[in-house]
Amino acid sequence: MVAFKLLTNSSSNSTSWNIPLLNQLFTSCISNHIQNIAILGPNRKDELKWMGTKIGIFSVKSMYTLLRTIDLTTPILARTNLKIWKVHAIPRAILFTWKCINNVVPTRSRIGRFVPIPSTMCRMCNQNEETILHMLLECPFIHSV
Ligand SMILES: [Zn+2]
Repeated sequence: MVAFKLLTNSSSNSTSWNIPLLNQLFTSCISNHIQNIAILGPNRKDELKWMGTKIGIFSVKSMYTLLRTIDLTTPILARTNLKIWKVHAIPRAILFTWKCINNVVPTRSRIGRFVPIPSTMCRMCNQNEETILHMLLECPFIHSV
C-alpha cells in the first residue's frame, strides 16, 4: 500500500501542499484548485460559512444578491438543504431561506393551488401571478423599495 502525503511540514513548522506530488497525481487544473484551498493550522477546526459574503456572515442583502444569480428552476441538492440549517443567522431568516429554496412560501399562487381564492395575482403590482420568484426578484414594486 502506498501512502500519499499531500501535505508537507516545512522546517518552520508550517504545513503546505506537496506541489510535486499534486502535479504528479492530478491535472494541472485540479492541482491548481487544490493549491488554492487554505490549509488550517493544527488548532483550527473546519467551520461552515455563508458563501454569499466575503466575511462568511449571512445577511438578507447577500441572500437577495445570491438569489438573483442562481437559477431557481433547477432542483437544489438535499445536502444544500441540510447545510442551510447550520448557517449562523437568526432562525427566522434561515427558515425563510429554506422555504424559498423549497418553494413552500404561502404565496397566492401556491395557496390558489389548494384553496379557491379570488385572485392569485400579486397584491403589490397586480401585474403577475404572486410566486416567490416574483415576490423576491421580479415585482416592479420591490425595486422602488
Ligand atoms: Zn408584483
